[in-house]
Amino acid sequence: MIPYETDVLIAGGGPCGLMLAIELGRRGVRAVLVDPKPGTAFNPQANATQARTMEHFRRLGFADEIRALGLPGDYPTDIAYFTRYTAHELGRVRLPSSAEAVRRIRGMGGSWSAAEPPHRVAQKFVEQVLHRHARALPGIAVHFGWRLAAFAEDRDGIAATVTETGSGAERPIRARYLFGADGPRSFVRHALGIGYGGDGGARRDFMGGRMHAIYLHAPDFYAICPHPPAWMYWTFNRERRALMAAVDGAGEFAFHAQLHPEEEADEAGPDEAAAVAMVEQAVGARIPLRILGRMSWLAGRALVADRFGAGRVFLGGDAAHLFTPTGGMGYNTAIEDAVNIGWKLAAVIRRGADPALLASYAAERRPVAIRNTGFARGFADSVGLYRPSPALETDSLAGTAARARAGAYLEQHARAEFNIPGLTLGGRYDGSPIIADDGTPPPPDAAGAYVPTGKPGGRAPHVWLADGRSLFDTFGFEWTLLRLGPAPPSPEMFVAAARMLGIDLAVVTCEDAEAFDLYESDLVLIRPDQVVAWRRDGRDGRVAAAVLARAAGAHPMA
Ligand SMILES: Cc1cc2nc3c(=O)[nH]c(=O)nc-3n(C[C@H](O)[C@H](O)[C@H](O)COP(=O)(O)OP(=O)(O)OC[C@H]3O[C@@H](n4cnc5c(N)ncnc54)[C@H](O)[C@@H]3O)c2cc1C
Repeated sequence: MIPYETDVLIAGGGPCGLMLAIELGRRGVRAVLVDPKPGTAFNPQANATQARTMEHFRRLGFADEIRALGLPGDYPTDIAYFTRYTAHELGRVRLPSSAEAVRRIRGMGGSWSAAEPPHRVAQKFVEQVLHRHARALPGIAVHFGWRLAAFAEDRDGIAATVTETGSGAERPIRARYLFGADGPRSFVRHALGIGYGGDGGARRDFMGGRMHAIYLHAPDFYAICPHPPAWMYWTFNRERRALMAAVDGAGEFAFHAQLHPEEEADEAGPDEAAAVAMVEQAVGARIPLRILGRMSWLAGRALVADRFGAGRVFLGGDAAHLFTPTGGMGYNTAIEDAVNIGWKLAAVIRRGADPALLASYAAERRPVAIRNTGFARGFADSVGLYRPSPALETDSLAGTAARARAGAYLEQHARAEFNIPGLTLGGRYDGSPIIADDGTPPPPDAAGAYVPTGKPGGRAPHVWLADGRSLFDTFGFEWTLLRLGPAPPSPEMFVAAARMLGIDLAVVTCEDAEAFDLYESDLVLIRPDQVVAWRRDGRDGRVAAAVLARAAGAHPMA
């Protein structure tokens, strides 16, 4: 039975809503999640879990579960470009298998100083893990088969109605807060009258217009394709551009083709025979295949909601920003939205923190959404507007030269789109009201390069410790006071202030010299989402209570 009353009502059981349920449930906050679908996504959807998302899964204790899903541990994650899969390979960027990436990350620094490398896994599998963990938490009620149908805010909270898919049965529910993680057509966003701003309809030869997604099973593909296995298979030929991602390394694929303008007019979309023909055009041969699912979707959007909520209602994930999937940031940005608001809602609900803390959600996440959609749009332009020579498929000297030119361009493009530590690890919250800016300049913002820095407002820099642990594994689940260097200051003032404010603060003393160099301070306050909130610069070591109150949202009466 759906409870009549809860702390947070979450509309939407995609990655954003499920992740928020976990962040809240882990902190003892009650939440009800409703979603009209019968269960988690059937179609693969997103294919890439970025390093930062994997670090959050590690923080919550299930990164290894996620890494065991998707492509097998020894399957290469190459990005490869073809005229057709059984014809010419134009270019390939070799990338390590998941098992190899996990080994390598332990020896990497600089841009790739991370606790977790990215993982190539379909969103459908990630959602199953998130659902299992959310459901297991006391206080969390996940109800697929129900939709949010109406809501209104009053003085004490939200009065909502949820309805059952099929029967239409209605149920009232009261909540202190409502979170709309209800996807691109968000009912919550529309009900609040909030629009999207940005670019809603870029036209490109690929990734700019109506796309058709085909989830298929074709185990013979690996025998028919004369080229080594890859994770991403892109095509360039005179008929149609397409992209196919390996889902399980054993014969399941997520195939996306761009519809021609005359096909877009057909509301019903391609029929099954036309869908099979699209796959065979890309393969360049007949191939036995079984279609598991199909859907049309629109590429070419880089949209961000004008506001991320109103009053006690917040928006996150696709409800707040819509990506073209180049760069693979839509789902990953959705996860970080949930992480950001999760600890803040818990602080207000459980600890009585000042509700003004919640305003920092939009202040922090909206600029990141604008940044991330912008990078994704750049990648879409780079690959979607690229037109190789018409000679590409010909058996001639001109054809050979055209293929060499296309290969060189596409390999350079792939390195830009698929090696994005700056994009995934380098998002910053400069200007946030709860970040204690220390006036030092932020590092340059580039998708391909991440500069670890202890400057408040960014992800805490990561190091591997001498005992083999990740520095992140030493952090507390809530707040961490990191003591660094040969003579770190006493934590007593912070410990006392945390006790007074009811803040759960772990004190971690780290003797690692590399960490001291990276953080450039001997005392650093790290938030529950592993973002640096403050670092001591030698002048303000005696202001612990003020630092904590600002960063964590003190009780208004404190
Ligand atoms: C074909 C396809 C391919 C994609 N490929 C990629 C990719 O390669 N990389 C990438 O990063 N992203 C990709 N995306 C985008 C990615 O899937 C989304 O960014 C991601 O799902 C966003 O998660 P979310 O939780 O915000 O929203 P969603 O996953 O859309 O979940 C929203 C949920 O809200 C539910 N809902 C709707 N209305 C209501 C209501 N009234 N009440 C309650 N619930 C409601 C819906 O049923 C849905 O389950 C792709 C998307 C599609 C469609």
